[in-house]
Amino acid sequence: MFIERKKKYFFANCKNIKSKIKNRIYQKYASKVVNVVVEQGVTKIGNGAFACMPKLKTARIQGSIGTAAFWGCTNLEKVTYVNGKGTMEFACFAECKKLKNIVIAEGVSAMDKSCFANCKKLKKVELPTTLKSIGEICFFGCSNVTVTIKGKITKCDVYAFYKVRNCKIVLKTAAAKKGKKVLAKALKKRKNKTVKIKKSKQHRPISTNGAGRKAMKKRCFNCMKEYEEQYEVCPHCGYVDGSPPAEAYHLAPGEILNHKYIVGTAIDSGGFGIIYRAWDAQMEQVVAIKEYFPNGVVSRVPGQNDVIVYS
Ligand SMILES: [Zn+2]
Repeated sequence: MFIERKKKYFFANCKNIKSKIKNRIYQKYASKVVNVVVEQGVTKIGNGAFACMPKLKTARIQGSIGTAAFWGCTNLEKVTYVNGKGTMEFACFAECKKLKNIVIAEGVSAMDKSCFANCKKLKKVELPTTLKSIGEICFFGCSNVTVTIKGKITKCDVYAFYKVRNCKIVLKTAAAKKGKKVLAKALKKRKNKTVKIKKSKQHRPISTNGAGRKAMKKRCFNCMKEYEEQYEVCPHCGYVDGSPPAEAYHLAPGEILNHKYIVGTAIDSGGFGIIYRAWDAQMEQVVAIKEYFPNGVVSRVPGQNDVIVYS
């Protein structure tokens, strides 16, 4: 494993790297790294290993890619990915705003939530024959992107292409065509009748800088941890700001109750109610909120707080 800095190579923690690059291990070099080359033999790039490196331009990588591994590398233009493995985890390339094209390596079997969320320049993505599953809001915020599929997709989240404008999905091989049903079904649920995806209805994101406190950080509505305001994808859990609630009748994440509770994502819902994760802005702590919501008796218009009672 080596990192190139202004054409001089320096070796970092070579002895420690056998097959895994540890989580966040290179963060101390974050402001200096320009190119990353992951050498043969590495099977796993740890969580946040190369996150938020403002000068990083190119990366040659391999193995499986951990959560937020390249999250927020705003100048990353070129990624060469070979010898893939397992899952590309949460938000691994999210917020890489200059990334244009990427060929995902053979060997990768799944793409987790938010992999390419807010990669606004992304134009071409080629998926390997080994890829089976595409996760939630994988391409959130991308536009005019062509996704070429070469393998049979057996699982595609209904929100995989949420808020993607002008997306074109190309089924390149016979195997890919066999996965069409799954894709079409997922897309149909999101009312995308064809593989060409239309702009989704905007969900209102609310900025919650700790209830009025001016800060450079914002809070994730899912894990309630803070992260830099300029990004829309949480590096801790992969949640994308502005995501729809899990069920249409849930309160939308970001709603403020009683002037102090910021509603997060739902943890659980049953016959009598819904439990939400929430942030108590006064006590500055995570709380759980239970909403009395008996099934079949009440309902809600998506996006509204009010409850409709059937009589
Ligand atoms: Zn989070």
